[in-house]
Amino acid sequence: MRILLVEDDPMIGDAIQGALKDASYTTDWVQNGLVALAALQTQHYDLVLLDLGLPGKDGLEVLSTIRGRNNLVPLLIITARDNLEDRLRGLDDGADDYLLKPFEMAELLARMRAVLRRHSGNASSRLDNGVVSLDLLSKEASTEQHPGVLLSSREFALLQALLIRPGAILSRSELEDRLYGWGNEVESNAVEFLIHALRRKLGSHVIKNVRGMGWMVSKNV
Ligand code: CA
Repeated sequence: MRILLVEDDPMIGDAIQGALKDASYTTDWVQNGLVALAALQTQHYDLVLLDLGLPGKDGLEVLSTIRGRNNLVPLLIITARDNLEDRLRGLDDGADDYLLKPFEMAELLARMRAVLRRHSGNASSRLDNGVVSLDLLSKEASTEQHPGVLLSSREFALLQALLIRPGAILSRSELEDRLYGWGNEVESNAVEFLIHALRRKLGSHVIKNVRGMGWMVSKNV
């Protein structure tokens, strides 16, 4: 999953980016409201973490611009502003949740998972297409023959990207997008390498190759 982190405080931003990386998210971090809006026009994100006090453009204006573009990306406000008016305005303007600084990283991650679950219409912390299931907390994947297989961060991110949209073919560049943020050099054949590793761990039937187009997992019937 690819996250846009909009935070101008370098220490807080650094701490959040580290926690997101440990949780296997790919993160692009920007420190300015205008840069955030530009990033959202060129890149698809699974979730936005938005500070309110920002240079360039205030977070509440960033939020109303995003929603004004009909972009429904899941969005969580993270801010030290504790006045009720800003909080209510943020929620009324289309934020999915609101977290006051300072907060524990464990709470941020839990709220992100909750927001993502609500958006996917999936009430559990598990993705399952009937062939393979993925536990989003423990990062273990299970098939009938291979229960409880622990995945690396990138293996997890790739399988998650496929399982979020079972039946959809994802191209190499779409998968690379989910695995690499800005400034991460994309290693050639990384996607093939990860698919190979996942098939070896879980069985080759789990991920289907659609020649010339990409990869998919089957849709639950
Ligand atoms: Ca700030």
